[in-house]
Amino acid sequence: MKIICIGRNYAAHAKELRNDLPTEPVIFMKPKSALLLPGKPAYYPEFTKDLQYECELVIKISKNGKFIQEKFAHKYYSEITLGIDFTARDVQREQQKKGLPWEIAKAFDGSAAAGTFVTLDESMDINNLGFELKLNGATVQKGDTRDMIFNVNNIISYVSKFFTLNTGDLIYTGTPEGVGPVAINDTLEGYLQGNKIMEVKIQ
Ligand code: MG
Repeated sequence: MKIICIGRNYAAHAKELRNDLPTEPVIFMKPKSALLLPGKPAYYPEFTKDLQYECELVIKISKNGKFIQEKFAHKYYSEITLGIDFTARDVQREQQKKGLPWEIAKAFDGSAAAGTFVTLDESMDINNLGFELKLNGATVQKGDTRDMIFNVNNIISYVSKFFTLNTGDLIYTGTPEGVGPVAINDTLEGYLQGNKIMEVKIQ
């Protein structure tokens, strides 16, 4: 499986990191070794002094596909969760300054935390899902998928022009504003439409 991530997909977040708004989805990937499943400890990497959380809606691909038309994209997923796109922000800034790829700042072991997957039902509109991240009990990020620059079906269609999507692949759809640092012993909790579906403890 592969983990595909979308960057700068919420205008307010792009602004807080002083990035321009993208005209096409910004894509990067994480390897399978980046996946941090529920209940596994998240270790603060020794190569960064600025590990940051980015809470994102995560889509699990349920069917193989390539060149998926946007109007059919909804047939390629049925489960979603919340995840954390952990980012070594200091390393990312250094890489960006040098014009180098992001992988060491974004794709390291444990950098793609995922919560418990839930099945989409009729009551859930993929383009109108509210979610929230709490850091040690205090809300630090609040997002809604209606504020995405590129919506989920848009993303699937775009990504599948370049990469065959396979069953089990995950798509991290970008983070809303409010990203920030974590420290050892912090607890992150993700809520989708008010229901807690993710918890990560930093060690
Ligand atoms: Mg992100």
